[in-house]
Amino acid sequence: VKSQGRNGYAFFDPTMEAKSLERILMENELRKAIEQEQFHIYYQPKMDIATQQLTGMEALVRWIHPELGVISPGRFIPVAEETGLIVELGEWILREACKQNKKWQDEGHQLKVSVNLSARQIFQKDLVEMVTRILGETGLAPAWLELEITESIFVKMEEATVVLKQLRDAGIQISIDDFGTGYSSFSYIKSLPVDTIKIDASFIRDIHHNQESQAIVKAIVTIADSLQMNVIAEGIELDDQAEALQQNGCVHGQGYLFSKPLATADFEHFLLNR
Ligand code: C2E
Ligand code: CA
Ligand code: CA
Ligand code: CA
Repeated sequence: VKSQGRNGYAFFDPTMEAKSLERILMENELRKAIEQEQFHIYYQPKMDIATQQLTGMEALVRWIHPELGVISPGRFIPVAEETGLIVELGEWILREACKQNKKWQDEGHQLKVSVNLSARQIFQKDLVEMVTRILGETGLAPAWLELEITESIFVKMEEATVVLKQLRDAGIQISIDDFGTGYSSFSYIKSLPVDTIKIDASFIRDIHHNQESQAIVKAIVTIADSLQMNVIAEGIELDDQAEALQQNGCVHGQGYLFSKPLATADFEHFLLNR
């Protein structure tokens, strides 16, 4: 708050008030939405860029509100994180994604599903227990699950490393999402218990005509190779971007060029018609 009154009280800021009111309404709506099962999981294909083979899929939550329609996760995930509702919602998302992938596995599609975890979930105390319980309940083998985490968790480096190690010991794979935008540094990446680096879309957007982005991607690929980590690029929309990625050694990709995130039935259609 910029202005202070003479006696030290902050002046009433109407925009802040409006925001918090929206938050409160949103929080109540979120609680209802969990109860009324208004959430749906969409799946976005992950591809081998050169062969156009499907290699896996990312689970992305959608809130389909009866009056407001589709609300994007960018709007409600932060509220769910702040209110702690992400713990309950996150568990539901994980269960849905594992259940669905188990079904696809049983139909002969051997694909890995990637589920996003927010920082708050990483530091919830029973996370590893919860994840292994869900794998047990759904019957999905841990090798078919990958968890996408962001670099933001590495502000608490030691705690985060312990949790990631436990998850990997349980046979689950770990991917660093949005790589290059946060706390990541090449000097400590080597000590992180991760399997895959997901290069942030901001480096892909201009890669076909920006030499710096090309150099960054090439450097990430080189380092990942030497650490025996996998690399995937996200946000690929253009053929030119896919080509530039291949020229710089990036094999795996995800983006609208291949497919947008799809509802379950549409993803099944994609599976069968690829
Ligand atoms: P993210 O994990 O970085 O996911 C990538 C976002 O980029 C998704 O947006 C996806 O739909 C979008 N995207 C994919 N390909 C392209 C493309 O070629 N071009 C463009 N412009 N966008 C593309 P979405 O689904 O709206 O999700 C936004 C963010 O919300 C995610 O970013 C993630 O941080 C969060 N989120 C989504 N689902 C979940 C979830 O189940 N749990 C948690 N904790 N967070 C989630
Ligand atoms: Ca992600
Ligand atoms: Ca991302
Ligand atoms: Ca992101």
